[in-house]
Amino acid sequence: QMNKETLGFQTEARQLLQLMIHSLYSNKEIFLRELISNASDAVDKLRFAALSDDALLEGDSDYSVRVDVDKEAGTVTISDNGIGMSRDEVIDNLGTIAKSGTAAFLEQLSGDQQKDSQLIGQFGVGFYSSFIVADRVAVHTRKAGADASEGVLWESQGEAEFTIEAQDKEARGTSITLYLREDCKDFADDWRVRSVIKKYSDHISVPVLMKEAPLPAGDDADDEQSEAAAPEYKAVNEATALWTRSRSEVTDEEYGAFYKHVSHDFEDPLSWSHNRVEGKLEYTSLLYIPARAPFDLWNRDANRGVKLYVQRTFIMDDAEQFLPMYLRFVKGVLDSNDLSLNVSREILQQDKTVDALRSALSKRVLDMLSKMAKNEPEKYATFWKEFGQVLKEGPAEDMGNKDKIADLLRFSSTHTDEETQDQSLKSYVERMQEGQDKIYYVVAENFNTAKRSPQLEVFRKRGIEVLLLSDRVDDWLMNHLQEFDGKQLQDVARGRLDLDDESEEEKQVREAAEKDSEGLIERLKSVIGDDVEEVRVTTRLTNSPACLVVGEQDMGAQMRRIMEAAGQ
Ligand code: ADP
Ligand code: MG
Repeated sequence: QMNKETLGFQTEARQLLQLMIHSLYSNKEIFLRELISNASDAVDKLRFAALSDDALLEGDSDYSVRVDVDKEAGTVTISDNGIGMSRDEVIDNLGTIAKSGTAAFLEQLSGDQQKDSQLIGQFGVGFYSSFIVADRVAVHTRKAGADASEGVLWESQGEAEFTIEAQDKEARGTSITLYLREDCKDFADDWRVRSVIKKYSDHISVPVLMKEAPLPAGDDADDEQSEAAAPEYKAVNEATALWTRSRSEVTDEEYGAFYKHVSHDFEDPLSWSHNRVEGKLEYTSLLYIPARAPFDLWNRDANRGVKLYVQRTFIMDDAEQFLPMYLRFVKGVLDSNDLSLNVSREILQQDKTVDALRSALSKRVLDMLSKMAKNEPEKYATFWKEFGQVLKEGPAEDMGNKDKIADLLRFSSTHTDEETQDQSLKSYVERMQEGQDKIYYVVAENFNTAKRSPQLEVFRKRGIEVLLLSDRVDDWLMNHLQEFDGKQLQDVARGRLDLDDESEEEKQVREAAEKDSEGLIERLKSVIGDDVEEVRVTTRLTNSPACLVVGEQDMGAQMRRIMEAAGQ
């Protein structure tokens, strides 16, 4: 055919395709979830676009997704009447991966199937999951509003290349046909497909239709059969937006399935909070905490934020204005009655309602975490392991919630001398010694250095607990936190340490030592010279001969290392 072109997949896309086929084999059925999820996204996008241009609907606003199986041919076809794709969009969307950090993600893969499938799950499986079950995939699509002659047929066997050609398409939207692999033919079975759709797509707000199964032909049913009209399509799923239902009606499985749809995650969420609010602000939010950090948690440009709906109408993905940066791991949906249907990202930046919603959602998340910390400490430990370092950015970014965040922080400490960060500031305060009025901490580049830090000797001797900090963000955190429960946070490596309870005896020892050392101190000063500000006698140490400390007002050691690493 003249117009048929063969193109190669982008390298990353090809690699991902291969990995997908090999690593997710034990999870085959998810391809249906992914394709239905895309179809539902496409319908959402058209609904939104039609708000400002209803000609796009071509007179048909009866949105649906259809799933057809053909046992003989061994195919399953998923069709939607959503936004569709132009030729260029097909090439971009199905031939390349646009996500930032893709190359880095691919490098992390180890070849260990178990680990890789988990990573791929976090990355998001998407359209390529079709190739887990199919050895040929055909996508026939036409953009809403375009002429039937602008239809495009994309085909691939999931190897290095795909073909693309013009092919008329009367109905707008996208139709995807999977030619099932020999050992995956069970997905051409009506009953099997129905049960998978039920399992994964019940919450999708667009109806997912299938042909009603034909009645079993009885001996005397012959006459009636000839009258049988064209088979009717009926919804397989519940088809109401999950967040509009009341909490008591939604099962954990449904919450889990919906999470996978909005987050593109593979695993179940750790926790969620579903709320309908009426009054000055009117909104429904359904916010999830994932069980695992995404591969791009530390990528500043990574997508974040909630799926935004206004009065049930989808507006945009990744609306980042509704959650602060330190809660960037939260996924979910916000459906607002106060915003206008034609909000854009630009408008959101100035809208006062957005600030009110952001603080309301922040509070929801922090409350959900507080409850988890209190009632499900093991779950909270998982949360902390995955996202604790991100939450530590909180006190700097969100002064208003500083105390709430401080309650949620967990640290290593000399109380356990274990690397696991599991001690709260509250528990530290409860263990404080009589007369102790500060919370002590030491910062080092790793846990072992922190634990062996010479500055701790005197604290250990006196049985005073010290927090052992070694995350990059810790100095930054402490600078902004400054106090907890009225107790100042004190870096043990900073300035002159007045352990106020120095006894008369200890004082005499120190003064005697100072006198004895006058000569030594002078010599040290002249040798080290300008590299230090001061040399003085200390009773901090019990085993080490000397240690370095930082001036009260100077930058912490950790901060200094960060600045150095940044070339400052
Ligand atoms: P994601 O859904 O996470 O963006 P996918 O791999 O599932 O990633 O899909 C890639 C892109 O292909 C989508 O973002 C969308 O632009 C396009 N796409 C996939 N399926 C459809 C569809 N049924 N209708 C319109 N566009 C689609
Ligand atoms: Mg998708």
